[in-house]
Amino acid sequence: MKILVVYWHPEPKSFNGAMFNTAKETLEALGHSVKTSDLHAMDFNPVSGRHNFTSTNDTEFFKQQLEEMYATEHDGFAPEIETEIQKLEWCDLVIFQFPLWWFSMPAMLKGWVDRVFAMGRTYGGGRFYEDGVYKGKKALISVTMGGPEEMYLTDGWNGDLDAIIRPIHRGIFEFNGFSVLAPHKVFGPARRSEQERIAELERYAQRLKTIFDEPAIEVGQY
Ligand SMILES: Cc1cc2nc3c(=O)[nH]c(=O)nc-3n(C[C@H](O)[C@H](O)[C@H](O)COP(=O)(O)OP(=O)(O)OC[C@H]3O[C@@H](n4cnc5c(N)ncnc54)[C@H](O)[C@@H]3O)c2cc1C
Repeated sequence: MKILVVYWHPEPKSFNGAMFNTAKETLEALGHSVKTSDLHAMDFNPVSGRHNFTSTNDTEFFKQQLEEMYATEHDGFAPEIETEIQKLEWCDLVIFQFPLWWFSMPAMLKGWVDRVFAMGRTYGGGRFYEDGVYKGKKALISVTMGGPEEMYLTDGWNGDLDAIIRPIHRGIFEFNGFSVLAPHKVFGPARRSEQERIAELERYAQRLKTIFDEPAIEVGQY
């Protein structure tokens, strides 16, 4: 199978870096094809604008979705965006690996989504959710938190983590047609012992070995 891992962390020796390497090594050892988007290493520009395109629909007023539709028709995406879209089109499973920042994705990963999921090419014209362009593909969030699990329960300080990441599951993955797998959560890696962290990496590797057998989850309404 074909897997795209989209990863952001500014420190390659971080725990997220270890999760990223674990995914790549585990999946390749199983014979899968893996492509990566290591956004920090790529120095990916998260800011949208006319530079997303080589084509121009309207020189007077920039409206991103209209330019995306025009670029779809005229092969007009900038090379750095076209490359990323083609990775999405190629994969059977996309994995987002990131640390939770302010209850969300870090800016560079969010900016990758803003620029790469493009109207006309990845959604639109009635093609979303069950009829989405990426129907048949799966998506997995692998996320680390600073806080412990009890902070992320429904009655915990922060509330339910699944509700926090719902915008990614429903608004990005399902909207574009992906089926969503249960998120992979690691709570407080910096607060854990070295042995516990190694055990977490092993838990992730074990899960990835049978990831294509997993059913999609129901993304709740909350
Ligand atoms: C701007 C900002 C916003 C944030 N918002 C939130 C938030 O909303 N909610 C929240 O819960 N947290 C938040 N955090 C905290 C953040 O989510 C955590 O710091 C992050 O998830 C921890 O992951 P890390 O990869 O950065 O860990 P690191 O601190 O890089 O790693 C933890 C430990 O793992 C070790 N390690 C690395 N590789 C291995 C390996 N192979 N084997 C064993 N150990 C290894 C590292 O050496 C380190 O000691 C925020 C942080 C920032 C900076």
